[in-house]
Amino acid sequence: MNLIGMLPSEMEDLAVELGGSRYRGRQLATWIYRKGVLSLGAMSDLPRDFRVALAERAAVALPETERVTPSQDGSRKLVFRLDDGSRVSAVLMPDDDRITLCLSTQVGCGYACAFCLTGTMGLERNLTSAEIVGQLLAANALALEEGRRVTHLVFMGMGEPLANLAALVKAIRILTDARLGVGYSPRRITVSTVGLVSGIGRLGSENLKVNLAISLHAASDEVRSRLMPVNQSWNLGTLMEAVRRYPLAPRQRVFFEYVLLEGVNDSPEDARQLARLLRGVRAKVNLIPFNDWEGAPFRRPALARILAFQSTLLDAGITTTVRWSKGEDIGAACGQLREPMPEASAT
Ligand code: SAH
Repeated sequence: MNLIGMLPSEMEDLAVELGGSRYRGRQLATWIYRKGVLSLGAMSDLPRDFRVALAERAAVALPETERVTPSQDGSRKLVFRLDDGSRVSAVLMPDDDRITLCLSTQVGCGYACAFCLTGTMGLERNLTSAEIVGQLLAANALALEEGRRVTHLVFMGMGEPLANLAALVKAIRILTDARLGVGYSPRRITVSTVGLVSGIGRLGSENLKVNLAISLHAASDEVRSRLMPVNQSWNLGTLMEAVRRYPLAPRQRVFFEYVLLEGVNDSPEDARQLARLLRGVRAKVNLIPFNDWEGAPFRRPALARILAFQSTLLDAGITTTVRWSKGEDIGAACGQLREPMPEASAT
């Protein structure tokens, strides 16, 4: 049994099972989540007997950080080796006073978007809440070596977060519990989805208050279905309906990601169609110039075309930024995560 990934309330229950008080469980959660102390021996205010009993039942196990690859732009890719030997990655991205961590939720991904390298792996399995929270604790330990701490979390790594909803929700509860958990504000957490309509509804009803990002990538069903097979199950109409129902705080917006692919979805008419689709939605659009990978059947548009697309949206009154991905040189940019990396598997 791994203590990482357990809710503070579950630690309280465990403490009682072991003959201690609920208070002992709260101390345990405080050590692990609030202080980042992972050795039972270092938890000095826990009685020795309790620690011994605990050690017989449970461990505090982080995923093993197998590799840390630095990029020229200051970001770092962390590759984790999990208990069953499979690998996932997370990306640390410093930017002025913030450090964003991009987290994985699955080994591989089953949604097969045509432009995404992770999609070529297929789905291997879901991550546990321990493996999700573990990525953050490991990354924070690394950041702490420089006296810093992860400030923002985005579920935009490998996998589809809403296809692993139970573990995701549990991890978010641990990460946002301000008293006994890691204590991140939900407004600093973003969950990105390929567009799983039922999952969006369920995430909304959990009332976690996290930001929602939709991987849109096209403003017509015809183009979107070609790029994203999921659109054949949940088309743009049903998707936008679910987005409109997602509960937002007063100044909160829904993010829309739109990967720009030359000659596929990057024309002025595509931009106008996107503006029409988003009419009446509190939206912020992130345009992601396509990140290349070996054998990809797409190309990044020229800079002028990217900026023209952005202008059309801005003229329509839609907040729009161009997200130049970090870590492109180390295979850590959006859509480039795959473990093992293609080069490595070829040798
Ligand atoms: N499965 C979730 C989480 C992944 S987020 C989702 O689809 O939202 C990763 C983001 O990068 C998604 O918006 C994805 O569509 C985008 N992406 C995938 N491949 C890409 C590529 N080659 N270049 C740029 N962005 C890409």
